[in-house]
Amino acid sequence: MKRTSLVLLLLLAIAAGAWFFIKKPAEPEAGGRVTFGKLPAGLAEQFSGEKALAQVRAIVDLGPRPPASEGYEKTLKYLEAEYSKLGWITKRQSFTRATPNGPVVFTNLLARHSSSSGDWNKSVPVVIGGHLDSKGMEAFHFVGANDGGSSTGVIMELARVLASDPASAAKVEFVLFDGEEAILTSITESDGLYGSKYYAQDISKRSTWPALGIVLDLVGDSTYDFYYNPEATASIAATVEKAAEASGLGLKRSLTSIIDDHVPLQHTGLPCLHLIGDFMNMPYWHQQGDTMEIIDAEALEKTGRTTLRFLATLEAP
Ligand SMILES: [Zn+2]
Repeated sequence: MKRTSLVLLLLLAIAAGAWFFIKKPAEPEAGGRVTFGKLPAGLAEQFSGEKALAQVRAIVDLGPRPPASEGYEKTLKYLEAEYSKLGWITKRQSFTRATPNGPVVFTNLLARHSSSSGDWNKSVPVVIGGHLDSKGMEAFHFVGANDGGSSTGVIMELARVLASDPASAAKVEFVLFDGEEAILTSITESDGLYGSKYYAQDISKRSTWPALGIVLDLVGDSTYDFYYNPEATASIAATVEKAAEASGLGLKRSLTSIIDDHVPLQHTGLPCLHLIGDFMNMPYWHQQGDTMEIIDAEALEKTGRTTLRFLATLEAP
């Protein structure tokens, strides 16, 4: 995530809006959206912040993971093995995009539980995503423990909890996005969100579409408030506020639109929930200090439990 000033943010929002206005796809020709159904209550208590923390540590220990790097490939291999142990089937989604550094091959990692349809052309109701890449930094070693690592750790722990109930696991597709971070300083119309833009196009071409998207980012530090997207539907907003309260997560509606991986998904018409820590006030954001020292199990646990309580109480997106 990046936001350098409100003015820049506004310009970016306008730019992104223009891009998506042009790219907005039509509804699917057949089948429409898959129907959302609540997950059972009781899954939330199974989510372990300590286990999520161990996943963040394992990812960070593999080193920086900018797109197309050795570290990114190592991280993909680690996550594929972890998913496999938990009964999830993974799919790499690779594509090449022009960037300010020339063409780059990006790779999203998708996962579905073995109990769900193996037909990737048909969607399952819920997509849960976060970015896997860490921002490429020339001046210093940057591992993105909170920025990219924390949401990935939460997603892997969600995969473990959901696998305990195959019927619930069958309703969820996980996606770890590549290239959320801009190659240059900040996300612009043509730089950043590479993976989520590609994934949004991909789900738009399926014969059926998901009903709900959830995107997590910078969720590893409970020192700061969390925000959700102002574009959330009334139903999503009311439900997530209650779920956060029940989970002890300090969550507020963001006053401004934040440009992150949920934006391309929202512009396919998918109702989305975006949860993000208050990165604007994190002194280590996009700095060397974004390491394991600032990650706490409590923040990860509150995020995971809020997500599961939200999915157990949402009537309809
Ligand atoms: Zn970032």
